[in-house]
Amino acid sequence: MQLPTLKTPDKQNILALSFDEILKLVQELGWKKYRADQIIAWIYKRHAAHLNEMTDLSKTDRQRLADVFTLSHLKIATHQQSSDGTEKFLFALEDGKQIETVLIRSKKKRLTLCISSQAGCTLDCRFCLTAQEGLKRNLRTEEIIAQFLSVQARLSESEAITNVVLMGMGEPLANLKAVTEACVRLIAPQGLALSARRVTVSTAGLVPQMKKLLQGPAPVNLSISLNATTNAIRDEIMPKINRLYPLDVLIEACKQLPLPPRRSITFEYVMLAGVNDSLEDASRLTRLTQGISCKINLIPFNAYPGSPYQATADEQILAFQNHLHQHNIRTTIRKSKGRDILAACGQLTSQFEQ
Ligand code: SF4
Repeated sequence: MQLPTLKTPDKQNILALSFDEILKLVQELGWKKYRADQIIAWIYKRHAAHLNEMTDLSKTDRQRLADVFTLSHLKIATHQQSSDGTEKFLFALEDGKQIETVLIRSKKKRLTLCISSQAGCTLDCRFCLTAQEGLKRNLRTEEIIAQFLSVQARLSESEAITNVVLMGMGEPLANLKAVTEACVRLIAPQGLALSARRVTVSTAGLVPQMKKLLQGPAPVNLSISLNATTNAIRDEIMPKINRLYPLDVLIEACKQLPLPPRRSITFEYVMLAGVNDSLEDASRLTRLTQGISCKINLIPFNAYPGSPYQATADEQILAFQNHLHQHNIRTTIRKSKGRDILAACGQLTSQFEQ
């Protein structure tokens, strides 16, 4: 990437720079290398929201940085809090696009941030509200990472985001380069220092990119939105992705994935009444996942205004889970959070956008 020179009139957000690029910048300015560590620490450890806060740089040096760069978090357009503590942020990007980020509080002080990777989405999953927007654009790395920084900066000192899931708006692997760089910064010790096991990228099944992610510099957890046990049903509910990579191709690819040691794939399975929730589906799921180190996460469907599907009854979800347990498949049922503010899985949309 071409660094802006000190003569560049347009200021760039310093969050656009990788760690290496910050080091190059420091060298270009003729400063000692440790200055790069200081700047990185201010951004990622001390959550500075402005270059002026970097008080171990002299006023003159801060001004030299500010001549070329800004340090900008995201602008909050709206913020909603659910009765269960879940918070939903609608962020306004510089070009007017809007994206949603959801903070989920659960037991044992776990704070999970669900972040977006695209404004809208490349894909057209029929059970998902985001799909109705179509793709507006990919997010840049700084816009992905700024979702974390903007939310963390609002939390009290006793609270810290412990887990990140890229399950918000968009198909993360359709924006692989920016998402990989964001994951690098999420897990790097000098960055946000989360364990790679606490960062999850969720894909609808972009097969070549799944392998690329795991072979890249940030081999985080992979979760695959499966949702069907036959091509006929997957064609109906996830038409675009299943045309590109049909179920059999996806499952075969999962068997070959270069997973890090002691790591497994999570298959997400949204339960849609009368569509994919029969015990025959559970049997097929058992056969499909044979030989894959995996866990299955059953997701009660969250209806939204005008949604074409209904939620499976709780007893049927339990029967489905039981069937999988009987075949020794680790299966959890996701506890839905933030339903009352449309912050739950598949309910995200920039519905307030003008
Ligand atoms: S479920 Fe995910 S991949 Fe599918 S349309 Fe919605 S945001 Fe995109």
